[in-house]
Order: sequence, then structure tokens, then C-alpha cells
Amino acid sequence: MKESLTRLEDALKVVLDTVPVLGVEKIGLLDALGRVLAEDIIAERDNPPWDNSAMDGFAVRYEDIQQAHAITTPTVLKVIEDVPAGKFPAKTVGQGEAIRIMTGAPIPKGADTVLKVEDTENTPTTVKVFKEEKKGANIRLQGEDVRKGDCIIPKGKAIRPAEAGMLAILAKSFIFVYQRPRVSILSTGDELADLDERFNEEKIVNSNSYAIAAQVKEAGGLPILLGIAKDNPDHLKRKIREGLNADFLVLSGGVSMGDYDFTKPVFQELGGEMNFWKLAIRPGQPVAFGNIGKTLAFGLPGNPVSSMVTFEQLVRPAILKMCGSQVLSRPVVQALFQEKFSKRPDRRHFLRGILWMENGMLMVRTTGSQGSGILTSMVKANGLIDVPVEVEKLKPGDVVNVQVLGGGF
Ligand code: AMP
Ligand code: MG
Repeated sequence: MKESLTRLEDALKVVLDTVPVLGVEKIGLLDALGRVLAEDIIAERDNPPWDNSAMDGFAVRYEDIQQAHAITTPTVLKVIEDVPAGKFPAKTVGQGEAIRIMTGAPIPKGADTVLKVEDTENTPTTVKVFKEEKKGANIRLQGEDVRKGDCIIPKGKAIRPAEAGMLAILAKSFIFVYQRPRVSILSTGDELADLDERFNEEKIVNSNSYAIAAQVKEAGGLPILLGIAKDNPDHLKRKIREGLNADFLVLSGGVSMGDYDFTKPVFQELGGEMNFWKLAIRPGQPVAFGNIGKTLAFGLPGNPVSSMVTFEQLVRPAILKMCGSQVLSRPVVQALFQEKFSKRPDRRHFLRGILWMENGMLMVRTTGSQGSGILTSMVKANGLIDVPVEVEKLKPGDVVNVQVLGGGF
């Protein structure tokens, strides 16, 4: 019997069409890193706020120095004031005059050009000019960075260090950002033991909860660890109920052939509406998605790599959307594949890959063994090589798309 497989693109569309954007909250600038702006940031003043000097030197009138020539006619100007950074000039530069000025200090009235100190000879009261400067040289103009009234950072953008600095320039000590989704994480399986349990040779350590919690945090969500549910309907139901006050519930395990039979009725008994997909991807074929009340629920496959890869492809974009982010996917780069690879043209494969630069070209190879239980294949990877459904063979030198994982390369 031929299985009917769901394309990842179709599944992702269903997920994203279902996910709402959360409400907003006000936070302090120091807590803003990684948060998504829920307001357009409009400049309330120009930056720089006034014309200022880009150099330590002398503010002069261009017409006084335009004939300056080192040998025949050095110009001598009278220094009438000193303006350090942080002080406004009191005087106006008149004919034959200059004001000593430090980097960042406002340009005095009358002056239109700044001479670099190293291009002059000067005493406390005079400055000798040996060469002409361009009119307007060494002046940073009012508003050349930011113009009052302009939208400087749009809503939906995540705050990075540059945005934090810009918000400070704009005197925004508090900003409105989208709330962070709360994500309940529940691992299922009688074979599992948690980290705080006594070591037991018969058990497998519940690693998925921790990998998923880290993925949730990286995407901007707040993980809530519910621990492990036993492979029995009553315990599973009880544990799922504990997670239903969150925005998302992420289950790991319980959706593969053997487990499906009791997971499905549990969702139904809790009033859940779930899709059980056999996704046309590898790793990570069985995935469930739907809702129980207001909580959006994902059932991911239990194998550690499958769990991480399906999270990347479906849960991460969902969390980002809920966070209000405009960007829902990882950066994708094209690289030259350095191995041979073959598969049947029935699934999209995500190979764990290592990207590197060589002679100005981006190269990629796999991290070795690609089994869905080989978590070292994720540990070594800085990207996921995205091999389309219909592709059967790759050879060295073929161009492939690679999703760049967090941390870059
Ligand atoms: P399942 O999808 O529930 O059939 O799980 C498939 C396999 O993944 C299991 O046999 C375990 O080896 C592994 N596995 C399931 N859940 C976890 C977990 N939380 N942490 C680590 N490995 C897991
Ligand atoms: Mg299981």
C-alpha cells in the first residue's frame, strides 16, 4: 500500500495560518535584545541633533582659507574661543577668525569648514593654515544619520545590538514588544528517565526536552518543562492537561506507529483537533499538529534528530510568528556540495551539514552518519542541507540550499 505523504510546505502553511500573534508588553531597553518590536520607532529628533565636528581642529570660514598655500601664502587666523565636546560655542566666527573645536562639538555660527589640527601650526591665540580644505570638510551634518519624523526601526523587527544603540539615540528607554509565547514541553515514553532520576542502565535519558527547551528559547519563546509522560493514556492525559495553560504544547514521541494508537484517542478525549501527518521529509516523518482549546499542540517524533529537525521546520516558524516577527525562516545560502548522495524522489531530506568557505566559495559536506538517533550529527552541524523531494542524486560540485543554523559558521 502506498502511504500518502504530506508535503512540508503544505503542513507549514496549515501551521502558520493557525498561529495568532500575541499581545504586546512594555519592557526596558536593557531587556530588549532578541525581542520583536510591536511599534514603529519614529525619530522625535534629528541625529546628530546639530552640525558637529568630525575632527579635533579649527572651525573656520571657507572663504578665509581658500587661498592658503604652504609656501607662498599660509593664512593666519585669530583663535577666539575653545569649544570642547559637550559645550556649545558662545561666539560667532568672523572674518580672519577661527574657533578651536574638539570632535563631536557643535559647529559655531559663521563657520562652514573644519581644519584638522595636524594640518595646522597653532598657538593658544593663532592658527596657521598651509593648505586649502574643501568647503564643508570634517563636518557631520545635523540629521545625516536620523531625520526627525522618519520611521527608523519598523514594527516586527527583532532587536539586535545595533537597534539597542539606536533606541538609546532616540531616547526610548522603554519600548513595546510582542509577548513571548509560553511553550509546554512534554516527552513521552516508558523508556525515558529524566536527568534528576537515579541512573538506570535500562533507560534512555530524556534529552529531547532539553534540546527542545533550548530551541524554544532560541526562537524567543519561554519553555515550561513538564517532564515525562508514561506510555499509558491516563498518565499522558494528566500530563497534557498540565500544559494546557501555555500557548504551545510540544510533545516529543508518541506519534510513531506504535504510540499513535493511544496518543490519538487522548487528544480526542481532551477535545483536541489534530492532524496526524506523515510528512514527506527525512528525518522526522510522523508529526501531529492541531489544538486543544486555545493551546496549539505539536507532536514531534521521538528520535532526537527527527525531533530537532521537525522543530526547526514547523515549530520554530510558529513561535516566531506568535512573537510578531516578520522573518520566520533561517537564512538560506547556496553552497557547493562536496560528496555523493542518493535517495528516492519521494521525500525532502535535511542533511546535517558543515558549511565552510574555500577560495571565496561556500562549500558544504555532511557531518557523517545521518541516522535519526545520531545527535552528534546535529552537534557538528552549522546548517541543514535542504535536498528537494524530487532530487535523486547529488554529486560533488552540485549547488545545494543550506539553512544556516543559529550561531552561524
Ligand atoms: P517514538 O517516536 O516515541 O517512537 O521514539 C522513538 C525513539 O526516540 C525512542 O525509541 C527513543 O530511543 C527516542 N526518544 C524518544 N523520546 C526521547 C526523548 N525524550 N529523549 C531522547 N530520546 C528519545
Ligand atoms: Mg515512544
